[in-house]
Parts: sequence; C-alpha cells; structure tokens
Amino acid sequence: MLGPMPIVHWFRRDLRLADNTALNAAIRDSDGAVLPVFVLDDNLLKGQSVAVARVQFLLESLRALDEGLRTRGSRLIVLRGEPAQALTTLARATGAEAVYFNRDYTPLARRRDQRVTEALREVGVRVATFKDLVIFEGAELLTTAGQAYTVFTPYKKAWLSRLSEQPRVALPSADQPVFRALALDLPSQIPTLAGLGVSAMPDAPRGGEPEALRLLKRFKESGALQAYANQRDYLAIEGTSRLSPHLRFGTISPRQCYAEAISTLSRPFPNKRSFSPVASDAKKEGADAWISELIWREFYMQILYHFPHADRGNFRREYDALRWGSGNPALDDERFAAWCAGHTGYPIVDAAMRQLNQTAWMHNRARMIVASFLTKDLLLDWQLGEAYFMRVLADGDPASNNGGWQWAAGTGTDAQPYFRIFNPRLQSERFDPQGEYIRRWVPELARVPDEYIHEPSKMPPLLQQQVGCVIGRDYPAPIVDHAAQKEETLRRFQAVKAGS
Ligand SMILES: Cc1cc2nc3c(=O)[nH]c(=O)nc-3n(C[C@H](O)[C@H](O)[C@H](O)COP(=O)(O)OP(=O)(O)OC[C@H]3O[C@@H](n4cnc5c(N)ncnc54)[C@H](O)[C@@H]3O)c2cc1C
Repeated sequence: MLGPMPIVHWFRRDLRLADNTALNAAIRDSDGAVLPVFVLDDNLLKGQSVAVARVQFLLESLRALDEGLRTRGSRLIVLRGEPAQALTTLARATGAEAVYFNRDYTPLARRRDQRVTEALREVGVRVATFKDLVIFEGAELLTTAGQAYTVFTPYKKAWLSRLSEQPRVALPSADQPVFRALALDLPSQIPTLAGLGVSAMPDAPRGGEPEALRLLKRFKESGALQAYANQRDYLAIEGTSRLSPHLRFGTISPRQCYAEAISTLSRPFPNKRSFSPVASDAKKEGADAWISELIWREFYMQILYHFPHADRGNFRREYDALRWGSGNPALDDERFAAWCAGHTGYPIVDAAMRQLNQTAWMHNRARMIVASFLTKDLLLDWQLGEAYFMRVLADGDPASNNGGWQWAAGTGTDAQPYFRIFNPRLQSERFDPQGEYIRRWVPELARVPDEYIHEPSKMPPLLQQQVGCVIGRDYPAPIVDHAAQKEETLRRFQAVKAGS
C-alpha cells in the first residue's frame, strides 16, 4: 500500500479548519489522507429541542466547511443516519484505519460517543479523541480535595493560574491544514432548509468559519472588546461579540478567542510558548471581563460533566421541594404564552423576548431579566424557560443554557440565590436608559415619551391616546404585580429553607 491509510475526521462541534485539534492530528497521522465527515443525525434535525435557527446555522456552517475543504483539494463527506452505524460502514468501505474526533461533554453526547467508539472498535477501527471544545476539561481542574468546583470565582482563579500549562494557541488564519486528494465516490450532499421542509429565519445569526472570524475581527477593531467591561450590559449597544453560536458549533475555537483577547493587551504572550493574562494596560479590563465570560462557558460545561443530574432538574436537590405556579394551570399557561410572545406588559421583558423570537439571539443582560421574570415574577418552573430557549436560540447550548437558567432561578451553583430577584423597571432604567432597545423591539411603544417608556401603564389616559398606545388595547397592562410576586417568591424560597 502507498503511504499511510486514511483516517476519518468526524466533525461535530468543531465546524472549522483552523486550530482544530483532532483534524490536525488526523492530518499529521495520515499524512494528509483525511476523510472529513459530518453525520447528519436525525436528532440534529428533528425533535422537541431542535431550533430552526440552529439547523440553519449548522447547514450554513457545513456549506462553508465544504467550500474551505474544496479549496484545499478535499471535500466534506455528508452521511445521514445513526452515527455508530454510519461511521462503521464508512470506515469499512474506505479501509480507514481510524476515526478521530474532538470530545463533547454533555450527557447525551457522551452516551452517543461511547456507542460509536464501541462499534468502531468491534470492527477493528482505532478511535482517538481530543480536547478541543474547551481550554480545560472537567476532570482537569479540581479543588485541592479532588472535587469538582461548584463556585465560579475559585474555578476562574484555578483556570487562569493553570493557563501556562496549555499549548500556545494559533491566532486565526494561522496553521491551515493541507489535505491529500482522495478519489472516493462518497455522499457529499448538504441538505437545504427548504429540502427539510423548514422556512428560513432571515434575521438569525449566520453560520460558517469565515463569518466567525469576521465577527471576532469586528469585535476587536470596533473597540467593543476594549470597552467590554463598561459596555457589555447596555442593551441597545452592540457591545458583545455575538460569537455564541460560533462557539456553540465550533466555527471558532475558544483558544482563538482567548488569543485574540490577549493580543489586545500591551504585553501579549509574555513567554513565547504559553499565553498569560498578565498586562498592565487600561485595555486589560475589557479583555479580562471578556475572558471571564469564556471561563463561565467552561464552568457550566464542567458543572454538567460532573453533575449530569442538573440536565434534568435542580442542581441543588433541596429545591425539588419548591412550589412553582399560581395553583391555576390555565392561568399559568396563559402567562407562559404571554412571556413567550413578549406580551407581558413589562417593556424590557417584551423587547427581549421579541428579539429572541425574531433573531434567535438575545443579549445576556436581557436573558437574565427574562429568566428572573419567568421564575420570580410569574413563579413558573425554570425548566419551561430553559426548554423554550432551546427551541429558539441559535446558540442553544445544554450547559450554558441550563447554567444560566438555574442561576436566575436560584436552584443552581450559587450560595445566596433567592436574593436575586430582578426588578424589571429598575433593570430597564439602568441598562436601557433611553428606551432605545425597547422601542426597537416593541414598535407599539415607539412614541411613548422617555418618562413612561419603562412603565407605559403609568401614562395618563389622554397621553396614551395622543401617542397612539392605549394600554389594554395597543399594549398590555402588566400581567402581574412585581411587588406582590416578589413577596410570594421570597415566601416560597423561605419555606424550602425552613424545611431543609
Ligand atoms: C438564562 C440564560 C440562558 C443562556 N443560554 C445560553 C445558551 O444556550 N448558549 C450560550 O452560548 N450562552 C447562553 N447564555 C449565556 C450568554 O447569555 C450568552 O453566551 C451571550 O449572551 C452570548 O452573546 P455573545 O456571544 O455576544 O457574548 P460575549 O459577551 O461576547 O461573550 C463571549 C462568549 O462567552 C460565552 N459566555 C458569555 N456569557 C456567558 C455566560 N453567562 N455563561 C456561559 N457562557 C457565556 C459565550 O460563549 C459567548 O459567546 C445564557 C444566559 C442566561 C442568563
């Protein structure tokens, strides 16, 4: 036989060519004879928790990946079906010696990967897996007692202090892989949304590695990264990177993001072989705050890795005793529907939910506000909100979504959770002072004067007529009273505490 045998690279949450750990290893070990494969599993395309925006993003990213591969003399092989079966069949048909892939950590992915690994090994195909999705895997960062971290601040400290052990990362555009052409007749058709019977979502985030690199560049060149610490919470400002769906699907790596953040600092890469967050520049604050968010992503991944029960219920099991709902299921259904549609009568909540429904993305501050509102003002189970987000978000990620919802609900890793009850009006005044975000997403409030934009139901009736926004006709009155609901929430949390 001429040269090494081919190796299959199984793309999953790493839909890019640059800085791809398993792909680079496959290229190295096979001398470029790599079979790049994506398996379109029905779980990705159908079912309860599949979002149109994620299917759209996935298909766009696969097309971009295929184009990138074609310019390098290769192309993407696209298989349909159950991964264990699809990959064993492919390995046998092509005489591939091994299958390489980057590890994923959700309970569902781990079960699937176990099945695939066993099936391949049974037919004599070697399997090699790699760390790529994160800078630190769950089992790598443990407390001195050998336990998983359940509190963010010490986790972050450990994460930063151990960074120098990690291999230096490639900045975007470096180290593009080289392939050897393989003249094999294998399926390569990427389905279209229309072919899947799904209507496109024109305002949802666009997929693909080139788009991820463009966003990263824009984030840095616009100055948003440097100003991140001060601007990221303002809802009307384009102050965040918008990279979340890209980090979700791996069209960019966390190392590329980290390297870019560090490169804004005055003393990048203090020693050539490692990177470190040390810098004395004023820009440091922005980069540090952004790096913190990247660490939150890994924090929640390791929480789900070590505590898989959180995927299906409260991280803190004592909160299983917490009572949700009003006691009237029909009223709860009505309130939940109003929350989903953005018709609660709380402008900031409604703006956020409409941003989500139209664009499949929502600002982080807004996610915290609507999650607090659902759980602490409507007293509805956080799992309803978690599931709704998963059905819509382009960046819907089991770990971050679950972590974010449990943080807001107070059932998660935090120590004093029930004090966290956001007042929607105060949040609105603080993070959308001129009501710009509200007016953008809730057009019926466009002419409401600044004075009333955070609480339009307080407008005198004559003014409501004058600005064409009659409460109860053009825009709903608040569906609940925040002060009363807050008291009830506190009572329920205290009841759990008293019982435990
Ligand atoms: C209730 C709730 C649900 C959430 N669901 C998801 C989800 O399904 N998927 C998801 O990626 N993020 C989720 N987040 C976290 C956060 O809101 C988004 O990551 C962020 O808004 C994405 O925008 P960006 O890319 O511009 O972020 P940036 O501010 O530019 O941050 C950079 C990256 O850091 C990561 N990140 C930022 N904030 C967080 C955070 N709080 N937790 C974990 N990772 C973070 C993301 O990967 C993000 O792309 C959720 C937060 C809450 C409160």
